[in-house]
Amino acid sequence: FAALTSTDPEIAEVVLGELDRLRGGLQLIASENLTSPAVFAALGSTLSNKYAEGYPGHRYYPGCGQVDVAEEIGAARARALFGADHANLQPHSGTNANLACYAAFCEPGDVVLAMDLRHGGHLTHGSPANFSGRWFEPVWYGLDPETELIDYDQVRDLARAHRPRMIIAGATSYPRLIDFAAFREIADEVGAILLVDAAHIIGLVAGEVAPSPVPFADVVTATTHKVLRGPRGGLVLCRAEHADAIDKAVSPATQGGPMMHVIAAKAVALKEAAEQSYRDYAHQVVANAAALADGLAEEGMRPVSGGTDTHLAVLDLRPLGVTGADAEARCAAAGIMLTKNPVPFDPAPPSVASGIRLGSPSVTTQGMTEPDMREIARLIGRAVRAATDPAELVEAVAALTAARPAYPRSQRA
Ligand code: PLP
Repeated sequence: FAALTSTDPEIAEVVLGELDRLRGGLQLIASENLTSPAVFAALGSTLSNKYAEGYPGHRYYPGCGQVDVAEEIGAARARALFGADHANLQPHSGTNANLACYAAFCEPGDVVLAMDLRHGGHLTHGSPANFSGRWFEPVWYGLDPETELIDYDQVRDLARAHRPRMIIAGATSYPRLIDFAAFREIADEVGAILLVDAAHIIGLVAGEVAPSPVPFADVVTATTHKVLRGPRGGLVLCRAEHADAIDKAVSPATQGGPMMHVIAAKAVALKEAAEQSYRDYAHQVVANAAALADGLAEEGMRPVSGGTDTHLAVLDLRPLGVTGADAEARCAAAGIMLTKNPVPFDPAPPSVASGIRLGSPSVTTQGMTEPDMREIARLIGRAVRAATDPAELVEAVAALTAARPAYPRSQRA
């Protein structure tokens, strides 16, 4: 860090400013986490310099001996942790991992059946603003209006009617476990490829607190930076029969040179995720999310689907008469970071939204437990209702974070 301070004090200030921001607030954005100093060390390493197009042992550049070892170790760890035949750690992001699956299995114009974005699906599941909606023909399934759970009968009916080339299971704001066996059955019935986009839940699977999609899916994509707590990036796991197609689809079809420093950092995160301390963390992530959802229900918000089985909860704010956008802004003013989120069948536009989404990974990494979640829920309730002077809330947040800081000084990389 000394080199950065002397070469570029402006950017050094930004880095320190961000550290202060993390330490001074509550990070409840469900897709974020606080990655470890060991992961940061691999990210800020000489491996960033290396061009290594291709795969270990088959590169288009010389001098890849060291990075080959990193990628082989990382892929072996991913295979072992998730029980997968094959792992590709090269995707630069979750979006790139999904793009590779389209490239491997679909032709432009093919029908893809995925979850409605307004019910929790991701942009890469067919949004018109994304390549997936521009180049492919999306058909969307959604949630049952009563239970707010995936309507598997609707998935089956749509699959029978539209004969999709690929079915995507997985979501960005669905708080419940997904029945992967049901999706497998439907995919088999119509001869579709089953892609499970496990971006959000892969870290729960690693920690053995959520069922694995690997035995059911043809291919599983994930991000490495959410619950899994690694560097920003993506990965693909697949059956042996698809390994070659996936590798070619990642590179050269959709990416050039892999980021070897990020791949090494993914390897570090996968090692950390195989430890008992990680399983304890994952268990606490789920317990904390449930405690948060319960606490927010006591504050008058309605947990979508009645609660959560995962690291995230979606709360309907209509009982309080507050929009998601206002709630997000009021919480941010108090140093509490969470996001507005549509609720199922939301009459409000997405830029306003009737709900919020929040998750427990970051605060769990900081060492917080259920009593902290109950206190956080009370603070969110006060912020959302605008019931307290924001300065008082900022102080209360500071007291909580001081007790369990993000990146305690002893840990600073
Ligand atoms: N898939 C799902 C379900 C996601 O929630 C996300 C990100 O939030 C992605 C894919 C894309 O990941 P990235 O932001 O790394 O492109």
